[in-house]
Amino acid sequence: MERILLHACCGPCSLEPVRILRSEGVEPVVFYANSNIHPAEEYARRLATLREWAADADVEVVEGAYDPEAWEATAGRIGDAAEAKFGVIANEEGDLEEEALFGANPVGGDLGRPSSSKSTVLDEGGASPAPTEGRTTARRAREARCRACYRLRFEEAAHYAREHGFAALGTTLSVSPYQYTRIIREELERACAREGIKACFADYRPFYDEATRRSREGGMYRQNYCGCRFSDAEAAAEREERRAARRAAREAELAAHADKRAAAEAERARTRAEKQAYADKQAKKRAILKALREQQ
Ligand code: SF4
Repeated sequence: MERILLHACCGPCSLEPVRILRSEGVEPVVFYANSNIHPAEEYARRLATLREWAADADVEVVEGAYDPEAWEATAGRIGDAAEAKFGVIANEEGDLEEEALFGANPVGGDLGRPSSSKSTVLDEGGASPAPTEGRTTARRAREARCRACYRLRFEEAAHYAREHGFAALGTTLSVSPYQYTRIIREELERACAREGIKACFADYRPFYDEATRRSREGGMYRQNYCGCRFSDAEAAAEREERRAARRAAREAELAAHADKRAAAEAERARTRAEKQAYADKQAKKRAILKALREQQ
């Protein structure tokens, strides 16, 4: 059987790829190579979660080198330049709708497929080629940082795979709809081509909900940011934006109801005034009749 190394970012994202690969008769070895994760305690916590699940599921886990300095020298440098220009780049993650269709393969479709020698060159510190219109400059800056981040991790994983006799390399990064799936695929293929192994890319995004359900059910630690120091701030900004949007929606709803309440109250006041006017008129009539009777 072909030996496959599966680069894994964390435990929750490993659940579905491992299940799917096993259902296809492939037994992957999981490779945790994530120098992007900041701080070191977070790196250790994600690894511990992965190991705990893997021990139960009988999955072999290999830890790569944790080298934040190497990450800072590549992706970190690009991220710093982008941050200096754009600040925190929030709500720019994930493939655009058109990109989701751009060369993405269904799950399992690439297993055993020869890796492509085609690669997209990252102009370090610059932006990746834009296959679609309408992207913001900030988005391209964030993509460039993430591309460098994927590249570092996949290069390490592909190198390990070749040195240890694996025929192919896959990744769990494509589980998340918040990642750049197209770029993940390009970088995986590039890294594999450099090492002469197969790229085992699969788009696992359709299984994200199931991965979320299973990881919650299993009580696994689920991080709320991608991994690097930038993503921590970006995720916090995005959460704050979502909270602000929810607050605004609630206030708008209350305001809409306030209008309705005011209209109903005005209607009640009008009815009360009409009744009072009628009662006054009747009282006046009664008083006149009484006065006439007393005169007779
Ligand atoms: S957001 Fe995620 S993929 Fe992008 S640079 Fe940070 S850790 Fe890497």
